[in-house]
Amino acid sequence: MFVRGIEKETLHLLLEMGKSSYTNEYMVMLGADEGIINIVYPIAGTVTGEDSASIFMDMIPLGMGFVGTAHSHPEGPTIPSDADLSTFAETGQVHIITGQPFNETAWQAYDRHGQPKHLDIL
Ligand SMILES: [Zn+2]
Repeated sequence: MFVRGIEKETLHLLLEMGKSSYTNEYMVMLGADEGIINIVYPIAGTVTGEDSASIFMDMIPLGMGFVGTAHSHPEGPTIPSDADLSTFAETGQVHIITGQPFNETAWQAYDRHGQPKHLDIL
């Protein structure tokens, strides 16, 4: 499934989660329907912080319509860290990072190679 966009409500939820979990980081999984991201899956047992990639991978339920991840950078820019890049390479095709001030301009999607990826907001 090629992911080309994200529902506006889903994007707003990801931004709102960044706000409400501040000053902590959050990480969730994303699901999509017909190429549009429209589902957010909280991950039980997720540990906040940039070193949680291995725990995160173990918690992915099998058989879900998983297309990628989203997480926040409470203080930093929306640029993937080295830990993020290894998570991206191992998991889905689209990865969203949200950051301050958690409005519609404060996020960026990346592909599994860490290259910026355009998503239509629908
Ligand atoms: Zn990160």
